[in-house]
Amino acid sequence: MSETPSETPKTPEIYKCCDNPQITYLAPVNINIDERTVGSVDVWRCAVCMKSFCEEKSLGIDSITDIVGMPRIEDDEKWVVIISKLQKGKDKWKLVKLKQNGMIKFETADEKVIELKIQDYKIIDDYHSSFLVLDHIHHAVEI
Ligand SMILES: [Zn+2]
Repeated sequence: MSETPSETPKTPEIYKCCDNPQITYLAPVNINIDERTVGSVDVWRCAVCMKSFCEEKSLGIDSITDIVGMPRIEDDEKWVVIISKLQKGKDKWKLVKLKQNGMIKFETADEKVIELKIQDYKIIDDYHSSFLVLDHIHHAVEI
């Protein structure tokens, strides 16, 4: 238990993305609703293989991820935030990894699993949209 919250997130345990990983914190991407930040995605990058890693942070929740250390991402996947038009507040967005095309099983805020169509790393659905996290480094995204 740490008493003092640190400004810069600590680098999690070394993740073996390549032979000699040098993973450092890159930047946050803030998620805004009505110009208020409701959460953020922390972006980390390996200076050797340039692979990026993302972690979801909702304000007021210490840790919502059950993955220890860096979440694994495959070479053919990208970090994407899915936005639900049916939800409000922190339930409105979720960090996922998408392949370029196909379908993704997506767990909604009310714990239903639905299938969403992916086309060129984007969600194609009437009630959901998405954006690529790495396109918004250092910026806030209004959802
Ligand atoms: Zn690496």
